[in-house]
Parts: sequence; C-alpha cells; structure tokens
Amino acid sequence: MDSEDIRSQLSPTLQKLMDDILSHSDGRPLVFVDELEYEIITGKSPELTEDEACFTGSEKRFFICLKSLAPMTPEKELPVSHEMGHLWLTLHSFPRENRNISDEQQKRYDSLFGPLLEVMEHAIFYPWLKNNYGIDLYRVGNQRLVDFLKNKFPNRKNESQGDQVSLILNYIKFKVESNSSYWQERFSRAYSKNKFIDLKLVGERVLPIIQELASKPPDPQYFIKKYREVLETMNIEQELWPDFCSLVKKY
Ligand SMILES: [Zn+2]
Repeated sequence: MDSEDIRSQLSPTLQKLMDDILSHSDGRPLVFVDELEYEIITGKSPELTEDEACFTGSEKRFFICLKSLAPMTPEKELPVSHEMGHLWLTLHSFPRENRNISDEQQKRYDSLFGPLLEVMEHAIFYPWLKNNYGIDLYRVGNQRLVDFLKNKFPNRKNESQGDQVSLILNYIKFKVESNSSYWQERFSRAYSKNKFIDLKLVGERVLPIIQELASKPPDPQYFIKKYREVLETMNIEQELWPDFCSLVKKY
C-alpha cells in the first residue's frame, strides 16, 4: 500500500506529519507493508508485536512495516510516527548501516553501533514530535522502562564486556526515551548499586553529548561528530567503528 492509500486512514495529525516529512522526499516513495511482504522484500522476518513497526529503505523505496495493515487502528499511530521520525532523518542524509559488512561487523552493529544510532536519533525526534505535533513517544518509553525495571533488570549480570556495553546502552536508552520522573528516580537508584555504578558513570558522561543533538536542526555531520564522541567516551576501539564515522568533515 503506498502512502496515499494509507493516508486517509490516519488521524489529521499523522497526515500532517507524513506530508511534512515527504515534502523533503528524495523521490523514493513510502510504502506500507505487512510482515509477510517485508520478509519477501528483505529476506528477514521483522517479528513485530501488534504495537510495533519497523522501517527500512532500498534504492527505490522506503518501507514502514506493521504486523498487519488492516485495520489501521489508533494504536498503530505511535509506532508509525516513530518510524516516520527515522524516515525524517534518513531524508536528511543521516548515516545508515553499510550493507556489505562481515558477519563479525554485523554482530557488532546489532549489539552496539545500530542500537546507539537508534537511540541518538530518538534523542532528536522524540522532542521534535512532541513539541511540533503533540505526538508523545515518551508514553511508550515510560511503559518500557517499567517493564525493564520489573522484569529484565533484576536478572541482568555484569560479567562480560558484552554485558557492560548492553547495560550502558540501556541506561542511555531509558534516559532518552522516558520522561517519567518517578520511574527515572527508581531507574537511577537501580543503577547506583555497586555492581552497576561504573556503568552508570559512563552513561552519565555520554548523556550530555547526546542531549545536545536535540537543540539543533538535524545535521548529519554534527550527528556523526557526536556519535564519535560517544564511542570515545565508551572507550570503543576506533578500528571497530562503522564506516560512516569517517565521513565527518572538520568542524
Ligand atoms: Zn527507533
């Protein structure tokens, strides 16, 4: 279904958002697909729940995928807005994963470089969507934080380097994506335990670097500069960094 077919089923706010974003279009149409179509196109199953969506682009088209397209219920509007945020930044030439990477690089991308890119983009478009369209993605972030604290964090270990990277990423993620002061307070306390305090300190040094992104209009060069600063602060060896890190011009 192309964006015109789905447009009439969306709320006026989401129609406006879609029109604003597509006014920057690079000529590639936006197409909405369900899980099955997505799998045929990309060869990968997205395994979405009813309240999730995902976004990808090819040379010819952009795709937003939902578990099912019909009916287009109001519950689907938050996940669709979320993916529109990623589309918005894609149309501003934000860096994207290099498709020709080794399995080893892919593993690192999936566990660190990709999730970091995600959360840094959220730091830009969560406030943008809230301030300009009244679309509140923090609602989802708050629910996920509660779930993380109740069901996931209690089983987390800090034993390997992989555990550490993942815990730091989680720290940054929920600081960026949740705005509930009550749950933020509990979250900070959970990370203040001995076992996690060093990771919290790294997270605290990374956060202001990321938060600066929200104060400027989207700029891929500035974004890559900040992304590099975060990797340095997290002490990630430079030879492992994704290719797009070298695209930064002198600032
Ligand atoms: Zn996202």
